[in-house]
Amino acid sequence: MVSTPSHAPSCLTIDLDAIQNNYRFICNKVSHGKSAAVVKADGYGLGEVAVSKALFNAGCRSFFTAHIDEAIAVKQAIPHASVSVMNGLLSGEESVYSEYDLVPTLNDLNQIELWKKHCSNNGAPQANLQFDTGMARLGLMPTELEELCLDLSKLDGINLQYIMSHMACADDPPHPLNKKQQKDFSSAIKRLPKVPAMLAASSAVFLGPEWHFDMVRPGVALYGGAPNEQIQNPLSQVVRLEGKVMQVREVNEPQSVGYSALFQPKSRRLIATVAAGYADGFIRSLSSRATVYYKDHAIPVVGRVSMDVITIDVSDLENTENAIKPGDTVDLIGPNHDINALAKEAGTISYEILTSLGKRYKRQYVGGA
Ligand SMILES: *Cc1c(COP(=O)(O)O)cnc(C)c1O
Repeated sequence: MVSTPSHAPSCLTIDLDAIQNNYRFICNKVSHGKSAAVVKADGYGLGEVAVSKALFNAGCRSFFTAHIDEAIAVKQAIPHASVSVMNGLLSGEESVYSEYDLVPTLNDLNQIELWKKHCSNNGAPQANLQFDTGMARLGLMPTELEELCLDLSKLDGINLQYIMSHMACADDPPHPLNKKQQKDFSSAIKRLPKVPAMLAASSAVFLGPEWHFDMVRPGVALYGGAPNEQIQNPLSQVVRLEGKVMQVREVNEPQSVGYSALFQPKSRRLIATVAAGYADGFIRSLSSRATVYYKDHAIPVVGRVSMDVITIDVSDLENTENAIKPGDTVDLIGPNHDINALAKEAGTISYEILTSLGKRYKRQYVGGA
């Protein structure tokens, strides 16, 4: 977990109750009522241990990370959880999985063989088997899967926890690959040992029950990420990011604001400088595009996002009861403007907004019991 700087001007609040609500929402949404949780990349930037403990308290028992070190941190915080590593098994890592009681994901025939050898001397610790149905990234290739199905003895002595695959286009419900992957996955699992099957990450949970199989594996939805753009986001927002106003000044032409003189006011404007920049994850593509909020008032970001600060045009609030002054806070992410809205302004996805959130904020967790 990130240590909290004690004099940070801006504040990141992470609502663990909201994560628990999202977890329960997904469990209710799926036919079998169960869900694992993906907590890779430090719990999508929100602190993997805090997030995992809250999810465990909400009933989650199965956690997935990308890296071994991420999995070790979760396992040490929650010894009774099953913690899987999705990226795959490299030769020499077998004993690390046993030492920490972690579950590897076997992603090619060679990894299966490595684990089988390891199992023969070490009991049969669990492993997941992943095959590729449309990502061409991780998991057994179709030719390898065929080879495996023709000789299932390759899996003898391996204690499988889940058989899994990953969707490529689930955030785009009409995409033809969605049905194809579902179909290919369904037929393949019939030829493999009967263990719980799992295909859906967040977006595929919302494609329908045919994608739910025996377990689902959401990440971003737990943290408030929208499943797709066709439906209203049913998930609770988890993150609030409040930026502190450091200075307020009048600007008029021919003055310009910020790097590259990007913002050139045509008349007198009132500009406030807020303590968050691209080094804090307020990414640079938000320059002159993002909106922040003071209470319910939308305020445009003007000019370039700098490393440490942004500039916002607060002219409309001047001479009102909501006039902005140094020491005030504005919502960079908040109830009026969530991670999905900010991502859209930045030309990216909510995942990147979350995992970019910097280490310089005061971090505060609420709820999660
Ligand atoms: C990241 C990841 C997930 C979680 O994806 P979300 O879209 O965040 O729900 C699930 N499975 C795999 C293999 C992943 O890489």
